[in-house]
Amino acid sequence: MQNKNLLLSKLPKVDRILSDDRIKDFDIARNLKIDIIRKILDSYRKDILDGNIEEFTYDDVIDKIIKLLNVKSKNHLKRVINATGTILHTNLGRAVLSKDAIDAVVEVASRYNNLEYDLEKGERGSRYSHVEEIICKITGAEAAMVVNNNAAAVMLVLSTLAKGKEVIVSRSQLVEIGGSFRVPAVMEQSGAKLVEVGTTNKTHLYDYENAINENTALILKVHQSNFKILGFTKEIFLEELVELGKKYNLPVVEDIGSGVLIDFSKYGLPYEPTVQESIKRGADVVTFSGDKLLGGPQAGIIVGKKHLIDRMKKNQLTRALRIDKMTLAALEATFKLYLDEERAIKEIPALRMMTMDIEIIQKRAKKLYSQLKKIISDRAELNIEKDVSQFGGGAMPLETISTYVVTIKPKFKKIEDVELELRRQEVPIIVRIYKENIIIDVRTLFDDDLHIIVDSLNKIL
Ligand SMILES: *Cc1c(COP(=O)(O)O)cnc(C)c1O
Repeated sequence: MQNKNLLLSKLPKVDRILSDDRIKDFDIARNLKIDIIRKILDSYRKDILDGNIEEFTYDDVIDKIIKLLNVKSKNHLKRVINATGTILHTNLGRAVLSKDAIDAVVEVASRYNNLEYDLEKGERGSRYSHVEEIICKITGAEAAMVVNNNAAAVMLVLSTLAKGKEVIVSRSQLVEIGGSFRVPAVMEQSGAKLVEVGTTNKTHLYDYENAINENTALILKVHQSNFKILGFTKEIFLEELVELGKKYNLPVVEDIGSGVLIDFSKYGLPYEPTVQESIKRGADVVTFSGDKLLGGPQAGIIVGKKHLIDRMKKNQLTRALRIDKMTLAALEATFKLYLDEERAIKEIPALRMMTMDIEIIQKRAKKLYSQLKKIISDRAELNIEKDVSQFGGGAMPLETISTYVVTIKPKFKKIEDVELELRRQEVPIIVRIYKENIIIDVRTLFDDDLHIIVDSLNKIL
């Protein structure tokens, strides 16, 4: 106890720490600074009483405080490096915005703007007017509106067109998207009644037709997105549903999940249905996400027949689901890039990563490899290997694209510890672990990520 009391009395006072030059000028709110100092002092006190500390210096305490101040002064939501190779990683913020989109956000957010002001008429305007024309031009739809995300879009469509009525969906399409978007649950929230038809693997047109009655509001088709049913299967084509809808005067709504606007098969990628095709095939309403394969900000886009979209704009829910100015700015700029497909592919990061030439990927892997080799080859085994990247974002779940990865096998440290420390870097680095190797897929890296990865591994290993 003698020694413990001595140690406790050695702990510096809060005021002394506050006036220390290293702490004094730290740019962080004073309240927060004091909280952090107390927190560190408390942890010392506890460790002393528990007998975990035998000795410490004043500078030890200051160092600990500075470390925590550094962490706390940074924003909690921050940039990370995605070395997983999953292009649209929902946990890592999905699509990275194009430069045009970022510039548009900065301009609109840092000054007043015409969000709800009609500059021609000099009177109140609609926030949806900024993007409706361009969305219609690109998708071929009669009308469009946008909300917070695709879950909200589906909810708004169902609430507007099917509240208190029945919606027919195939059992094979009752999907759960990550983050607990479940088609049946969304349906319940919207006040529509789900009528499931068919079986998990097969649904026939007569299943839909048999379910139609005077209480039916619409037929819903949901893109399976993140799973596939293989083998003995049957799905009804959109055209057939549209025919059926016409026969009974029922709108056909399609939730296609990812907002694909380009035929990816042209670029040697798997085919994904596009929004334009759904419109052309006669879907009355189509909903999709802004931040999946479209490569824009989080948003839910609703396109389709004007008389239906007009009803949605008047729904009270719209106010609660409404999109904000920064998202609108980014969305407009992203759609504009699609006016020129080549530009879209080059400038929208998600599209660029998807269509990246394998030779360029290999070159980047070699570059990272040789930089690492120079610095850490004494502490890790390094290799370049062929591997596969994933699309992510609940799209094309079974398809992968060839890529190159740099593999790192630490000689003196446990792989899990290295992975954890990579996550704890000032710019956290998110990697995969496979067979005792750290895997760095260079497809999802940006050029300025490379030196950070090299420096971090040098520090950690
Ligand atoms: C991803 C997805 C959603 C949810 O979209 P968010 O924009 O994430 O809300 C809904 N339906 C389908 C089919 C999806 O793939």
